[in-house]
Amino acid sequence: MSDCLFCKIAAKEIPSTMVYEDELVYCFKDIAPIAPVHYLVIPKEHIACAGEITAENSSVVSHIFEVIAKIAKDEGIDNGFRVITNCGEDAGQTVHHLHFHLLAGVKMGWGVDAVKPE
Ligand code: AMP
Ligand code: ZN
Repeated sequence: MSDCLFCKIAAKEIPSTMVYEDELVYCFKDIAPIAPVHYLVIPKEHIACAGEITAENSSVVSHIFEVIAKIAKDEGIDNGFRVITNCGEDAGQTVHHLHFHLLAGVKMGWGVDAVKPE
């Protein structure tokens, strides 16, 4: 998609700090980290969000999880990590290209912080 930020990052049209790359996947550092380790793992192919995964494009998702396991080993993330994907407005998705946040380096809490009470 020509006007998609993460398509442009994957194509190196916009700079990013690369962590890992192969023919299907790109991983880079989040520009506004919320944990000591905060990477984004994206398919190079444009998929809008997890709600757009289908039988035709889902193989890249299992590959992404193989890559996440490899990155964790290679980067010495040995005390645990969290993977998050936001899809749509209620989840607070701001970039509409499928991405998995890889968070590590801190003991994390658990919960959903509502930003707009019902
Ligand atoms: P989400 O809110 O789940 O859509 O996550 C989008 C993420 O992309 C946020 O954590 C942003 O900090 C991050 N982000 C936005 N622009 C850039 C950029 N140019 N380089 C790296 N990360 C970015
Ligand atoms: Zn895209």
